[in-house]
Amino acid sequence: MPLTDKFGRAITDLRISITDRCNYKCVYCRTGNEGALYGDLPFEDYLRMTRVLVGMGVTKIRLTGGEPLLRKGVVEFVRDLGKLRVPNQNGGEPLDIALTTNGHLLADLAQPLKAAGLTRVTVSMDAVDPDRFARITRVPNGYDHVLAGIRAARRAGLWPLKVNCVLMRGFNEDQIIPFGMFAREEGVTVRFIEFMPLEEGRTWSPTTVVMLDEILARMAEYRPLVEIPHARSETARRYRFDDGVGEIGIIAPVSHPFCGHCSRIRITSDGKIRTCLFSVWDHDLHAQMLRGDSDKELADFICEVVQKKEERHHIGEPDFVPASRTMVHIGG
Ligand code: SAM
Repeated sequence: MPLTDKFGRAITDLRISITDRCNYKCVYCRTGNEGALYGDLPFEDYLRMTRVLVGMGVTKIRLTGGEPLLRKGVVEFVRDLGKLRVPNQNGGEPLDIALTTNGHLLADLAQPLKAAGLTRVTVSMDAVDPDRFARITRVPNGYDHVLAGIRAARRAGLWPLKVNCVLMRGFNEDQIIPFGMFAREEGVTVRFIEFMPLEEGRTWSPTTVVMLDEILARMAEYRPLVEIPHARSETARRYRFDDGVGEIGIIAPVSHPFCGHCSRIRITSDGKIRTCLFSVWDHDLHAQMLRGDSDKELADFICEVVQKKEERHHIGEPDFVPASRTMVHIGG
């Protein structure tokens, strides 16, 4: 019986933040004044939490942060995750293990991660121009590292390879067409993400968001797009160019929310469960472990927490209450 919330949504995807440290200070995410606030746990603790959740119906894991590649031992952790099996009648099948990274340290780690059992990687990259990239990330010379990381991931066979770009008006809305070209040239899927109010500096306003319709209209000036049918549970709307070369996606939580088929829960780097990015509280799974709960007791706790999963977010509505943590301290 899959883990299901009170709205009938099956919980199959787990995102684990393995650190809330980050080596980038992206303008839409961090102020640059705050560092890691919550710290992290030994990998054995994340492994136990994951094992319990896999026994309850989770089939996909995504490691995130902060910047997950800053964490020493990440390759060994992936190897341990790879030994977990999703229960089925044939004795179990491997988990889908993905990673979201800014790519800065990926060039050296792509091959070891693939060998350890990583299935897929998503690299965040918000400009295809080195100067613009530095202005957004507030780190000099990052662009070359990230490009090298993307290419190393492709060589290592971490496939499909996705590149996520958060568009923020005034910073990178002119990168839409260059990213279309990049998708075609590099053979990656570029996914544009609408900016959500989850930043440290509270700079979000509806006018800073570059929305789906605008992205499509701008890209169509470059080349016609054809929509690819997508599964209901997929967060991205997918499009290919008319000549079949290159794919883009748009994740539009602000203009086209997909809460109705959200299948995710998150574990923060300090071991708290969050049932929604926009939750105003979290649930202390690690405290349950520290007090000596058995796996069965942890599973009961998780079941109870999942029943509290929010129906939807309220971005842009008068009753919107900011989340109790910002994105870098949740794990995107
Ligand atoms: N450091 C890793 C990275 O850069 O991919 C993983 C963590 S980062 C928080 C995960 C994703 O969240 C990145 O793709 C980032 O661009 C995105 N993100 C951060 N703040 C966001 C916001 N306010 N709205 C939308 N996406 C955001």
